[in-house]
Amino acid sequence: SAKKKGKNRFELYNSHEHGRDEQDLVLENDLHKALECGELLLYYQPQLDLRTNQISGVEALVRWKHPERGLVSPVAFIPLAEETGLIIPMSEWVLEEACRQLKQLHLAYPKLKMSVNISAVHFLQNELVETIDRILQKTAVDPRYLELELTESTLMPNAPFAIEWLVQMKQRQIKIAIDDFGTGFSSLSYLHRFPIDTLKIDKSFIRHLSSYRGEASIVKAIIEMGRSLNVSVVAEGVETEKQYKFLKEQRCDYAQGYYISKPLLFDELQQFLREWNTE
Ligand code: C2E
Ligand code: MG
Ligand code: MG
Ligand code: MG
Repeated sequence: SAKKKGKNRFELYNSHEHGRDEQDLVLENDLHKALECGELLLYYQPQLDLRTNQISGVEALVRWKHPERGLVSPVAFIPLAEETGLIIPMSEWVLEEACRQLKQLHLAYPKLKMSVNISAVHFLQNELVETIDRILQKTAVDPRYLELELTESTLMPNAPFAIEWLVQMKQRQIKIAIDDFGTGFSSLSYLHRFPIDTLKIDKSFIRHLSSYRGEASIVKAIIEMGRSLNVSVVAEGVETEKQYKFLKEQRCDYAQGYYISKPLLFDELQQFLREWNTE
């Protein structure tokens, strides 16, 4: 079992097969402390506008700087945070921190967009709208440059609620992206009813672009669909020049992935933006 491997504790928390055992409780305690002690931090991954070749935005990605385990991936602790309700204060911190940093970035790059991931648990919580309003007010960020990323599996099972919620975001001029698009089997007949701004093609389709013809057709179809629905399309997980070229050829709007940049610390991001813009 993962537990026996001892050293590889990361894998233990990453696994969905394990129930809640004492290790989870240790992590849960740690997670409480992480919030109190400021052990969470945000990385920012640039998004490239394929038409203008400019960096148009960044996605905030949370990490946990654990005193013993080092940098812990969100994939490893978000499920537990969701299970324990800690996701709420954690996401509030993420949203506020991302907005604060966006405000800072706007001094030099006034059109830059900030994308923030929203967990299903947080989405279904009634206070989220108030929280968003409070944070926007507190940080004085222009809501047009904030984009919230939700997955199909968050939105689709709660369609009537979701549509109403999205309308509230629209009224505030906040942008909405559907993350990991293509993996949730959303009903396409439903999609046009959702007032969204962006589709993010899941990285699994991008990864196999050159090896399987099926993936290329799916990517083309999503780009085409974005065009007809009049929403932007972002390809995530772009790792190679070949993938980049294909997406550019297909007139995909934006690309995000290691080929452009890995997620960066705030200072690294500022450096990256400076260098990119002088090229
Ligand atoms: P996501 O929102 O789909 O984020 C994209 C993930 O792909 C990120 O993983 C990013 O580091 C990774 N990635 C970026 N470029 C590449 C690439 O070229 N190749 C590959 N293979 N991967 C790439 P990360 O940061 O580990 O985040 C994983 C997931 O955790 C995110 O998926 C998102 O669902 C969730 N997450 C991250 N931050 C937050 C947060 O602040 N709140 C919530 N609720 N969820 C978050
Ligand atoms: Mg995302
Ligand atoms: Mg994604
Ligand atoms: Mg994801």
